[in-house]
Amino acid sequence: MTRKVSIFGATGSVGMSTLDLIQRDAQAFQVVALTAHSDVDGLAKLARACSAQMAVIGDPARYDALKSALAGSGVEAAAGEAALVEAAQAGADWSMAAIVGCAGLRPTMAALQAGGTVALANKESLVSAGALMMDAAVQSGATLLPVDSEHNAIFQCLAGSRLHDVARIILTASGGPFRTRSREEMRDITPAQAVAHPNWSMGAKISVDSATMMNKGLELIEAAHLFPVGLDRIEILVHPQSIIHSMVEYRDRSTLAQLGSPDMRIPIASALAWPGRMETPCRPLNLAQAGRLDFEAPDEVRFPALRLARQAAEQGGLAPAILNAANEVAVAAFLKEAIGFLDIAMIVEDVLNRYSAPEPSGIDDVLEADAQARRMAGQVMERLTA
Ligand code: NAD
Ligand code: MG
Repeated sequence: MTRKVSIFGATGSVGMSTLDLIQRDAQAFQVVALTAHSDVDGLAKLARACSAQMAVIGDPARYDALKSALAGSGVEAAAGEAALVEAAQAGADWSMAAIVGCAGLRPTMAALQAGGTVALANKESLVSAGALMMDAAVQSGATLLPVDSEHNAIFQCLAGSRLHDVARIILTASGGPFRTRSREEMRDITPAQAVAHPNWSMGAKISVDSATMMNKGLELIEAAHLFPVGLDRIEILVHPQSIIHSMVEYRDRSTLAQLGSPDMRIPIASALAWPGRMETPCRPLNLAQAGRLDFEAPDEVRFPALRLARQAAEQGGLAPAILNAANEVAVAAFLKEAIGFLDIAMIVEDVLNRYSAPEPSGIDDVLEADAQARRMAGQVMERLTA
């Protein structure tokens, strides 16, 4: 039986890893929709290669270019945000949500509302609208499978256990490329240094988030929605080798860990084959070669993003959406070399402390807070660079 799958953010790091697995067993899958933001040629090539039913480009100005790139292929072309949402409701049994940032919120939400299985990599949407997304999944009966390696690890360690038996969730963090640097040594970090992660190969935004450790902060909020054991039961532990992807400690003090090579195709395969298993081309773990596993407590002074994310999680309401939006703006500015590395958390803190908004009643409230936080982050940056 073939499964109908769609990939949102197909041209990205997670999207390409997903397609890699699907193409190894092409008979088992029928690709409904592939999407990308602006890379028409990349998207058209992927859509042709897997005979997708449709390809959607987020940027509406690229519609004509996509249509001509797909001429004669039989792949339908579409463009714009509404088309992304429609693609999410086009009948896939399994969808990969791998758009980066809050830009993925509407399509991810639409996929959840459509029912079916949603493999979630797009953590920013869950950070911004966690309660609404979890509700949508309950309402439609959708299955939400975490793809973020830590959350996928926790999901595997939970294996259907009752949350009230969980004493602690231990979210592991590599610590990023600047784990051992002082604040002073972080001041002049360049985008090229920040995106060079020691263990994982990922898109630019999440690589910068790993370097500031905002990624772990976002993952704390993500975990609190996916596994509602209470924030005080979710801890962060730095583990530089990225071999243990996270752990669950039960109330009998038995602790389960999930281990694997740092290759996103492993958690993606777990979500693709769930509740079964599939083969992957990934390197088997060689613990004798690894030799040792190290651990250390996270440092919230050198990495203030951790403190800010916990603050936003405790505040609740729209605070996580505000944190995320300010961070997206700051990371984009850092990547363009408009601000320094340490300015990222400073901008987030400024916006988070000046703007608060209550519990959202729908996605529009989230997107309004997101837009307002982006404007405020822009103003803070103007002052900084003036
Ligand atoms: P990436 O930058 O490599 O790819 C992002 C994808 O989203 C691309 O296909 C791009 O075209 C699309 N996109 C970007 N902006 C868009 C917009 N405004 N509208 C529509 N589409 C848009 O990113 P990535 O590293 O693959 O990460 C994707 C998501 O997965 C992120 O939320 C990230 O946090 C999460 N994630 C990634 C990894 C990883 O190893 N890369 C691991 C865990 C979680
Ligand atoms: Mg992760």
